[in-house]
Amino acid sequence: MLSMVKRALSKRHAPLLWLLLAFGFIGLAYLSQQRLHQFHYDQEIKQSQESSRFYKASLLASMRRYDYLPTVLSSNNELFSLAANDPDLANQKLLTIQQRSQADAVYILNTDGITIASSNAGTPTSFMGRSYDYRPYFKEAITEGKGNFYGVGATTAVPGLFVSSRYPLDLSKPAKAVVVVKINLQPLLDNWLSGTDTVFVSNDNGVLVLSSNHSWLYKTLGDIPTEQLQSIKAQQQFANEPLTRLDLAEQDQITIVKLDGARYIRTIVEVASEIGIQGWTLQHLTPYKTITDKTFSDWTKIIALLLAAVAILLAIRFKNTRAELKTSRGESSQLRELNLSLNHEIIERKQVEAELTKAQIDLRRTSKLTAMGQLSASITHELGQPLSAMRNYIATLQLSTAKNGDSRSDKTLGKLLSLVERMTNVTHQLRYFARSGDKEVHRIKLNNTITGALSVTQPAILEAKVILKIDSPDTPVYIVAGEIRMEQVLINLIQNAIHAMQGCEDKRLDICIAQTDTSAVMSVSDTGHGISESTLKELFEPFYSTKPSGIGMGLGLAISSNIVTEVGGTLTAENLDTGGARFLVTVPLANDDSK
Ligand code: ADP
Repeated sequence: MLSMVKRALSKRHAPLLWLLLAFGFIGLAYLSQQRLHQFHYDQEIKQSQESSRFYKASLLASMRRYDYLPTVLSSNNELFSLAANDPDLANQKLLTIQQRSQADAVYILNTDGITIASSNAGTPTSFMGRSYDYRPYFKEAITEGKGNFYGVGATTAVPGLFVSSRYPLDLSKPAKAVVVVKINLQPLLDNWLSGTDTVFVSNDNGVLVLSSNHSWLYKTLGDIPTEQLQSIKAQQQFANEPLTRLDLAEQDQITIVKLDGARYIRTIVEVASEIGIQGWTLQHLTPYKTITDKTFSDWTKIIALLLAAVAILLAIRFKNTRAELKTSRGESSQLRELNLSLNHEIIERKQVEAELTKAQIDLRRTSKLTAMGQLSASITHELGQPLSAMRNYIATLQLSTAKNGDSRSDKTLGKLLSLVERMTNVTHQLRYFARSGDKEVHRIKLNNTITGALSVTQPAILEAKVILKIDSPDTPVYIVAGEIRMEQVLINLIQNAIHAMQGCEDKRLDICIAQTDTSAVMSVSDTGHGISESTLKELFEPFYSTKPSGIGMGLGLAISSNIVTEVGGTLTAENLDTGGARFLVTVPLANDDSK
């Protein structure tokens, strides 16, 4: 699958596919974000509901703790008679009850709502003699037997829950007094204040009676109607608190609210009906930021995981690439080596090919020469005697014609003789091929070859008015060859040079002998017409000649090349930049021990 994607990406539509992948990734990220957000939202709602139930339970536990007390006290006739007759003793008793029950205060009002006995008598905030007839808990107790009221203490300014009971409890009998137990909810409130949760309880008028945020206490959730406001003031429920509105706005959903600029998820639970007070609700708020924070934290983890996965993949890829690189380096070095050896092989093959071609050419030349040898042997043999016989006959005839004074016949005989001479000359040349025994080699001085060859060619050089220059070292240059045959080579080269310079104004012939570490080199240079490209290719072929028939047979260089090759040397030709041609005879130097 991955390879398919890769292949697709490497093709023409790669940009489009990358774009689709990017969109796909963004879409996936968006959906994941939505999913995560919803998940955390649901979790927080659940958590908030659980917290709300917990706060409600703790609130109810604190409020119901003294539910029984007023009723129990109402059935204590002795206490009420003491309150009426011996207030001090009654106060004493109420103090004991207060201390034992740990209620905030326990006091008894007469039917006018005036305190006739109180647990806090004698203290600066004593209720003794104070009238609480305006308090609902007094009125409710007189008329209904029981009363419940939450408000700020009119004397102490300490908020609390007032639970009251009529004396006697029997409503058919006239009321004589009302016993009141004040429960301080401050410890509960302190708990809420010290916690991190945001929770508050509002009463039936929407006033916040309990709150984990101190500054929200006695603020209202909405506008309170004037009538209600007057009633609150009459009951002195919240002392002189201004009851300003809490900056709370419901958002798109009832569960999401904005409070003091921050967004919260809200859970509401009813508390009132269970404690006999109407309209109390508990609201638990979870900062909306918690959801975004948790979603963000999840994303951070996901991205970290993705990065780790990418890092691992990259590490694996890097490792593989290194391994591949190593292998490919090894392979490429092997390839290089192979290439080198192939190159060597190619060079060797080319050399072998060149050698083979040369050998083939040599073979062809040698076979031609061999054939020539056989042919020459029979020609020289067959023509030798008739030619010498012809020469004798002509000589005899010349003698007789000279006697007779027949000049005409003598002239004809002279022409015949020159033709016979020419034919003899040809057979002389052919004789080289016919000879087979004259191939012995010795250690000879190459320098002497020049002297031998010049003794034959000197007249021709002089006749052709060629300037001869010889450059031969004083020290002898030894080679192993047949002396006559080497002379024959040089004679041939000199004759060719003279011929090539025919008609030239500048006629110079340079013969030079030199030696390298391993070879002796004899060069013959002239200032003639040089060698044409086509001639250069055929130069050493037998019967190749550019000279007219009768003058050149095209055997000189073929024979010379053969002689030089036989002694392990080479005969080469080149054109000179200054014009003319140069022939090089290169022959291995003779060893000191060779004879
Ligand atoms: P031939 O002299 O009978 O022609 P060679 O084998 O000696 O036969 O020479 C072959 C040919 O090489 C000649 O015909 C000539 O064209 C050419 N050649 C030989 N030597 C020279 C030279 N020094 N300068 C120019 N051409 C030469």
